[in-house]
Amino acid sequence: MFAARGIAVSFSMFFLLYGGLSVVVATLWARVWVHSERYPAWHGADLLFGIRMLPLAISLAVTFTFTVPSFMLLEPHAIREPVGAIPLVLGSCGLILVLLGILNATAAGLAASRTIATWVRDGRLVKGESSVPVLRISRVVPALTAAGIFRPLVLMSDAVEAVLNASELRSALRHELAHLRRRDNLKKLLLRFVAFPGMAALEVAWLQATEKAADDAAVSTAGEALDLAAALIKLSRLATFPSAPDIATTLIHAPLASVNARIERLIAWNERQQKPALALSPLYAVCVTLTIVAAVAVTYNQALERIHIATEWLVR
Ligand SMILES: [Zn+2]
Repeated sequence: MFAARGIAVSFSMFFLLYGGLSVVVATLWARVWVHSERYPAWHGADLLFGIRMLPLAISLAVTFTFTVPSFMLLEPHAIREPVGAIPLVLGSCGLILVLLGILNATAAGLAASRTIATWVRDGRLVKGESSVPVLRISRVVPALTAAGIFRPLVLMSDAVEAVLNASELRSALRHELAHLRRRDNLKKLLLRFVAFPGMAALEVAWLQATEKAADDAAVSTAGEALDLAAALIKLSRLATFPSAPDIATTLIHAPLASVNARIERLIAWNERQQKPALALSPLYAVCVTLTIVAAVAVTYNQALERIHIATEWLVR
């Protein structure tokens, strides 16, 4: 019964914290996002993804650092107390949330691997200097797709080489390789795991920021930016959008308005106007981490007692 109560209380605290933080993030993220325009696109993408994952990260950290140890250390083992109705209900909600997340992510991952497997069945390896395999597939669309998490590859449709010239193709390929380098497919899978109502706008903003970040990573001169813009224009005329799997990135994807915004941004690309990255010295990061660890260590016993009082209240 002690273990059952511990599990119910841990899942209850996780559920309350995760749900509460998710509501806070869904309501307030746009206020933080306003300031991101000052920094490069990849900063914006990382910031949005960090904000999106914050509820899960904090809830897991608090559960394993405080809730579980406080219950194990401070709860009397001998008492044959049954699991109360409130922790039972809240704990079940927490467990259901975790299970739904796992199911959701697994379904999306499997659907993507099935689709990609059928696309690459007759794929031919393209010789090139890229570190990631590039396969030519006999489809018109999607023109270029970066797929896979553990064994990443780029799929290139037959139409691409017919439509793009060599430098446009190189820029477009660099864009897809940037997605793979930044592990955007893994991040998409994690987003499926943390699916929560009210987060759609934040996730769309993150998707748009990752596209800008991959565009920036693909070009380093105004000429290359124009090549990528030309590739986007030519490939967006190719055909209607196919139903590409969620856990993959395609060069052109709906809505077209966001593709148009990228084209305008690339045409206006200027080396001298590139925004400086946020300067964060490693020493600063080490100092902040050490301060947090020291603060947690000093107040740990007290915090455990407080958390235990809170869980006691929940158990009754
Ligand atoms: Zn992209």
